[in-house]
Amino acid sequence: MSDSEMYVLYCGDLNGPCPRCGDAVSLHVAEAVDGDGDGVLWSITSQCVGCRHTDVMQDRPGVFDALDATIRQALVARVGFARVHADPGVNRTLRPRALAMFRRQGATIAGAAHDYAALTGVGITGTPAETALLASHLTAEGMQVTLHHHDHDRTAASGST
Ligand SMILES: [Zn+2]
Repeated sequence: MSDSEMYVLYCGDLNGPCPRCGDAVSLHVAEAVDGDGDGVLWSITSQCVGCRHTDVMQDRPGVFDALDATIRQALVARVGFARVHADPGVNRTLRPRALAMFRRQGATIAGAAHDYAALTGVGITGTPAETALLASHLTAEGMQVTLHHHDHDRTAASGST
């Protein structure tokens, strides 16, 4: 068993060419928290209807750099954002540890303070794996956090009658 939780998503609006025959193929995008808990991993699977070629691209440093924003947008469009929230009262004594954690993740001093304020305010949003990863970092510091999964952004919903 793996500790990682895999979010498998179908993104029909993310398309690319088949590497073998060049036909347009739809791509399956999956994201997960990696087994060590230090990052979000992506994989893209393409299955060509024409020539049956199947290709899996696993996340490696540099592989998805140019695609990152596109993949993330596609994920968010399909599953919406998730949100991590921490009660400021319950977690008050853990604020220094949370700030240190944000610093270790690359935040500036001001950025860490901003992140903590967001966390204990409206919450911090991200893709399901991003927020699961953040929640696991925070609970490792002893914090009590809640993870909310949103449906699609309701303000962007259309077609209601
Ligand atoms: Zn093909």
